[in-house]
Amino acid sequence: MSKLLEGKTAVITGAARGIGKAVAMRFAAEGCNIAFTDLVIDDNAKATEREIAAYGVKVKGYASNAADFNDAHTVVEEIVKDFGRIDVLVNNAGITRDGLMLRMTELQWDAVISVNLKSAFNFIHAVSPVMMKQKSGSIINMSSVVGVHGNAGQANYSASKAGMIGLAKSIARELGSRGIRANAIAPGFIITDMTGQLSEEVRNEWAKQIPLKRGGTPEDVANTALYLASDLSSYITGQVIQVDGGMNT
Ligand code: NAP
Repeated sequence: MSKLLEGKTAVITGAARGIGKAVAMRFAAEGCNIAFTDLVIDDNAKATEREIAAYGVKVKGYASNAADFNDAHTVVEEIVKDFGRIDVLVNNAGITRDGLMLRMTELQWDAVISVNLKSAFNFIHAVSPVMMKQKSGSIINMSSVVGVHGNAGQANYSASKAGMIGLAKSIARELGSRGIRANAIAPGFIITDMTGQLSEEVRNEWAKQIPLKRGGTPEDVANTALYLASDLSSYITGQVIQVDGGMNT
């Protein structure tokens, strides 16, 4: 059987570690060339590059602040020069700056909206002309269950993730006639550095509320991204898929 993403090129933001890295590895295993970004291409990002290259695909990590409009356009130009095409975009870069509303600073609000939501606009803006010329493409926004349901102490993060859903749904309507699909993934509690900072008590409390009785893995999310990136989902656009062990059904 041929590989699901053979000969395609994916751009994945913030993919030196965590869910982004797992998505890059899963895509590479299916024959996809990988252009990934991260704030800096340090030893850890270089190690990620080597791990992806082991699948025999072309890979390059680019230093880029996804929240910066010009930076995103420059890096996409470089990627097109290096790879020749872009078939899949995964807007994955994300941060949290949690706090209850009355204590939340303007800085916390702006940082999360810029890195999570504006970054997705930046990359879609830069990548969609390339996809339009190709008359095909799949855009995946890494949202969150809290973008669907909200969460106390995460007004900034939840708003950014809800925005990523609205953005995907709008792009699905705007660019569907050009062969471009746009969807969002809403992961629940996934075990990565982002959630690793929580105490064991808090993590156990979360697990109790999950029907499948465990936190998700980055690979659980990566498998869903693979589905949305590939032709297996060729008639699916404007959707949100929750990867949350059933916690929010
Ligand atoms: P993570 O382990 O903290 O990784 C985030 C990645 O994004 C890191 O590689 C980080 O780079 C990069 N990044 C941060 N700011 C950036 C910027 N301005 N420009 C480019 N890259 C940047 O997070 P994760 O758990 O894998 O989460 C990945 C995505 O899934 C995020 O959008 C997150 O909101 C979402 N998500 C996660 C969970 C969860 O439970 N983990 C649940 C729902 C949604 P550095 O290494 O330089 O910091």
